[in-house]
Amino acid sequence: MAIGFDIITIFPEIIEAYIGESILKRAAQKGLLDVKAYNLRDFTTDKHRTVDDYPYGGGSGMVMKVGPIYNALKAVKADGAERLTLMLGPQGKTYDQGMAEALSRESRRILLLCGRYEGIDERVRESLVDDEISIGDYVLTGGELAALVIIDSIARLIPGVLGDEDSAKEESFTWGILDYPHYTRPPEFMGMKVPQELLSGHHKEIADFRRKEALKRTLARRPDLLEKAGLSKRDSEILNELCSHKTGTEDLEEEK
Ligand code: SAM
Repeated sequence: MAIGFDIITIFPEIIEAYIGESILKRAAQKGLLDVKAYNLRDFTTDKHRTVDDYPYGGGSGMVMKVGPIYNALKAVKADGAERLTLMLGPQGKTYDQGMAEALSRESRRILLLCGRYEGIDERVRESLVDDEISIGDYVLTGGELAALVIIDSIARLIPGVLGDEDSAKEESFTWGILDYPHYTRPPEFMGMKVPQELLSGHHKEIADFRRKEALKRTLARRPDLLEKAGLSKRDSEILNELCSHKTGTEDLEEEK
C-alpha cells in the first residue's frame, strides 16, 4: 500500500525541503510515498507569471486568481489518475487523526491546493475542488505548512513507513486517548527517577502502568476524548479509582 500527493503551490521548494528529509524521504525511497510539488506560476499565461490580483469590491490584500489554478488542476489531472482534490484554508473542515486515518486508506492520489495572500478566488471552492481542509482555528500565511501537516500525518500511517509497526498504534488520538509518558536512560537524572514499574521487566505490569498513566493524563488534559474512546471495563475501573482516590485527584491537579 502506497500513497500519492500532488501539491499546487507558489513555493514548491518548501514542500520538497521537508519531504526530502528523514522518515518521509525513506518512505519515498521505499516506494510507499510519492509527493509531487507543482509551481502554480508554471501555469500562468502572462510574462510576469502572475498568480494574484486585486479583490473585486476593494479591501486589503490580494486574491489568488482562478485562471492559473484551473490550468494547474487541468495539467496535473491530465494523466487520468483518480484524485481527491482538497484546498487548504482556515474555513475548511478541521483536520484530525480520524481524517488522517480515513485519508491514509485513499486509493486515489490526494491533490492539495495551497493558498497565499488573502486567499483564493471563491469560484475555486465552489467548482474546482472536492472539499476544503483547515488544520486548526488559526490563520497561516500560506497553505504549505498545512499540506505538510497532512502529508506527514498520513504518511506515518502507511504500513512500512515507520520503523516499528507498533509506533503508530499506541499514540495519542490513534488509540482514542492520549499517549502514556516515555522515558529513556539514565534511570535517574538530577534526582528525577524513571517510574519503577518501567524498570521491572514485567510486561503485564508495564502495560498496566502505561494504560493507567495514559488514562490519567487524558482525564486531566483532554476529558472530552474519554467519551468516545471505546474504553474497556478495566479502563472504567481505573478511571473510577482515579476519580475517587484522593492521591489520584491530587495527581490530576498537578497534571493541570
Ligand atoms: N482570508 C482568509 C480567511 O480569513 O479565511 C485567510 C487566508 S490565509 C492568510 C492564506 C492561505 O493560507 C489560505 O488560502 C490557506 O491556503 C492557508 N491557510 C491559512 N490558515 C490555514 C489553516 N488554518 N488551515 C489550512 N490552510 C490555511
